[in-house]
Amino acid sequence: MQFSLTDEQNAFKETARKFAADRLAPDYMKREETGNIDRDLMREMGALGLVGPDLPEEVGGLGVDSVSSGIITEQIAYGDFNVSYIQMLASLMGNLVYSHATPEIVSEWVPRVAKGEVIIGLGLTEPRGGSDAANASVRAEKSGNGYIINGEKTSATFSDQMDAMVLFARTGTPEEGARGVSAFFVPMDEPGITTTRFRDVGTKMIGRGSVFFDNLKLPADALMGTEGSGFLQVMRGFDYSRALIGIQCIAAAQASLDETWKYTTEREAFGAPIAQYQGVSFPLAEAETMLNAARLICYQTLDLRDRGLPHTTEAAMAKWFAPKTAVDVIHQCLLTHGHYGYTMDLPHQQRLRDVMGLEIGDGTAQIMKLIIAREKAGTIAVQHAVAKK
Ligand SMILES: Cc1cc2nc3c(=O)[nH]c(=O)nc-3n(C[C@H](O)[C@H](O)[C@H](O)COP(=O)(O)OP(=O)(O)OC[C@H]3O[C@@H](n4cnc5c(N)ncnc54)[C@H](O)[C@@H]3O)c2cc1C
Repeated sequence: MQFSLTDEQNAFKETARKFAADRLAPDYMKREETGNIDRDLMREMGALGLVGPDLPEEVGGLGVDSVSSGIITEQIAYGDFNVSYIQMLASLMGNLVYSHATPEIVSEWVPRVAKGEVIIGLGLTEPRGGSDAANASVRAEKSGNGYIINGEKTSATFSDQMDAMVLFARTGTPEEGARGVSAFFVPMDEPGITTTRFRDVGTKMIGRGSVFFDNLKLPADALMGTEGSGFLQVMRGFDYSRALIGIQCIAAAQASLDETWKYTTEREAFGAPIAQYQGVSFPLAEAETMLNAARLICYQTLDLRDRGLPHTTEAAMAKWFAPKTAVDVIHQCLLTHGHYGYTMDLPHQQRLRDVMGLEIGDGTAQIMKLIIAREKAGTIAVQHAVAKK
């Protein structure tokens, strides 16, 4: 078992750490007020190799492993949780497009993802429910040489800021379930697309909302992979993004925790720094422990992925445990700051609002536990059957 970083990974970590400390952390709270992602900042990160570094070199990435991507995401999210959506989406969507879109679409779009020039979003959730994602009702009807799309996707991250979307639409019958769902690459400036933005609790510069398709015409080569393979494609990608999301959340919580340790050595009560009181320091010690445990699950997932080993169970563990732990830790940090912690002047309230979204986004804790239970019960059932033979 290997817990140390390579020289290359240490170099990435340092570049990302420095960028986050100098360019991101000082304006984390100010950036929330702008309501939009800073495109110059994205390009700066792209130029430093901090966006989609895991994408292959032939399409502008650096071809590094998933663990390296996680290391970069962690450093960026420590400085600004919201900005790290760029890293997570570039890795998730960039790889999905690279693996399944036509060579023309790949060469036009993926290098621009790695340069930090474009955002590719995900259109999976529908108004009638996101957990049962295979139950898609947005239709893609065959028309001549292409498809016509009608319906509504909702809750899409970067709804009104993304440049393109991977859209999951039904090409088969409802009875076919997941096997009737296909994936399409959709540039967002096509006629027939309108977007809205929700009034979200957090992640305000990212934005989330609905995307409406009104007789959107797509050419045949917008289809990614083959008809009916779309749902399975995205599910495989989610194992990766779930670990990265876990890392995003841990990093934000670690930022709050580091600030809180410092505060406890400066703030005095009853004639001593509050760090002296175990009632103050033990919850923070527990928080360090929990964050470390969550971090290890996330990196274990990435390491398994890099070695081509199954990691669906670990990814599901990372996705429910890390955001939940992060929310609990940030809440504790807010409380440890006393009345001041409850003001909008400190970042803990923002981190709490921001991180909470990813307890839901990409699948809730209940759905993650269903995946873990299904994998475990399935394995036990197989072992039982083998033992009985
Ligand atoms: C910040 C954020 C970003 C997002 N980004 C995107 C995006 O980019 N693209 C996209 O397509 N979607 C996105 N989503 C949507 C997200 O994936 C869905 O919200 C999520 O999958 C849950 O779907 P739902 O909200 O419709 O809840 P529902 O499916 O209606 O579920 C409601 C509640 O019931 C529980 N539940 C449902 N079924 C079961 C069951 N079988 N057992 C136990 N409990 C169950 C759920 O856990 C949940 O608590 C995002 C959401 C958020 C909050």
